[in-house]
Amino acid sequence: MKTQKKPSRPSKVKKAAAAAKPSVRAKTPVTEKRPGLTAAYAAQAADTPLAPFQIRRRQPRPQDVQLEILYCGVCHSDIHMARNEWGQTIYPVVPGHEIVGRVTAVGNRVTKFREGDLVGVGVMVDSCRECVNCRRGLEQYCTVGMVLTYSSQDKRTGELTQGGYSKQIVTHEDFVFRVSDKLPLAAVAPLLCAGITTYSPLRHWKVGKGTKLGVVGLGGLGHMAVKFGASFGAEVTMLSTSPEKEKDARRLGAQKFALTTDSAQVDKLAGYFDFILDTVSAKHDYNKYLGLLGTDRVMVCVGIPPAPVELQLFALMGGRRSLASSGIGGIPETQEMLDYCAEHDITSDVEVIDIGSVNKAYERVLKGDVRYRFVIDMASLA
Ligand code: NAP
Ligand code: ZN
Ligand code: ZN
Repeated sequence: MKTQKKPSRPSKVKKAAAAAKPSVRAKTPVTEKRPGLTAAYAAQAADTPLAPFQIRRRQPRPQDVQLEILYCGVCHSDIHMARNEWGQTIYPVVPGHEIVGRVTAVGNRVTKFREGDLVGVGVMVDSCRECVNCRRGLEQYCTVGMVLTYSSQDKRTGELTQGGYSKQIVTHEDFVFRVSDKLPLAAVAPLLCAGITTYSPLRHWKVGKGTKLGVVGLGGLGHMAVKFGASFGAEVTMLSTSPEKEKDARRLGAQKFALTTDSAQVDKLAGYFDFILDTVSAKHDYNKYLGLLGTDRVMVCVGIPPAPVELQLFALMGGRRSLASSGIGGIPETQEMLDYCAEHDITSDVEVIDIGSVNKAYERVLKGDVRYRFVIDMASLA
């Protein structure tokens, strides 16, 4: 995924980036003295925990929507970013891109939302809207670069964007989604990233009735992939390193479960799958899973471990297999996914936490100890 081009950064920041990479400190819009501050939790550097912080949100522009954030999911990407594991973080960073809340104000040219509406904001808050990908509703692949919800820079002012571990956010209406009031709101939040990131490739590669789908990793993304795969009519097999998750995998919709630390169970599945979705966040052996694809089949990696991967090309050659990746989903598809979930009663399995527990939650995510997404109740943020 291409994020916003860095040349638009203020020059001071560029210098800082050059001098201090990978830990970049931006000329932040935040100062203690400015009025209208918003409570948030931020990481000040790659090796510091998240702590209370104040940010300044802009006043709504004519097409902006301001929302009070009610819940925000904890995505593994938040951890990669807070710790600068992808080398692109600008500090201080307020993570959080699985945001749901209620509209509190709209600009005078907003047409899609009104005060009081339930809405969501996901991983991106702007893009060029003119390039070939934006025109196709693939804003996440904007050739100019999308603006991420956090650790990116506003196209107009260059100010650092800050995410959903905060009380409110102001976003252009084109990057705000309608959220159904039929579903429990805390369990809707993870749809804004974990949901769309799994829905999009399953739809793009037409996973459905008759597809033998393998999902690697039962975490935030993985459990949504199992739910969507089952809902689309595929035969789902969970490929997991955690034997204790088998029962959950079956409850979520998997027909089969294979423990990937047991080579006998893996070997039995050689050439079996039509499609594999790999959601793993850490270093692991991709070649092992490629061997489980049938001829001409595809494995899509949505998990993005920080280090480059080792690929044995024979694993692709033996069966004309393809390896691909996919980033979140575009704006129209994200709304489609939210509407699909409302219609089919699909939400995330969540553990709601107070903001004060977020650092502990990060540690638990890293240990695979989450069933299956932490969601912060933003009422706990003073
Ligand atoms: P998560 O909740 O931590 O789940 C990851 C799962 O991967 C774990 O539950 C575990 O499942 C498995 N796993 C972890 N370490 C492993 C290892 N060393 N070897 C094998 N399996 C391992 O994370 P998440 O929030 O779902 O995010 C997953 C990844 O997707 C992250 O890298 C995140 O940054 C990325 N992501 C990408 C996009 C995109 O647009 N492409 C969007 C969102 C997130 P088992 O216990 O079942 O083995
Ligand atoms: Zn995410
Ligand atoms: Zn574009």
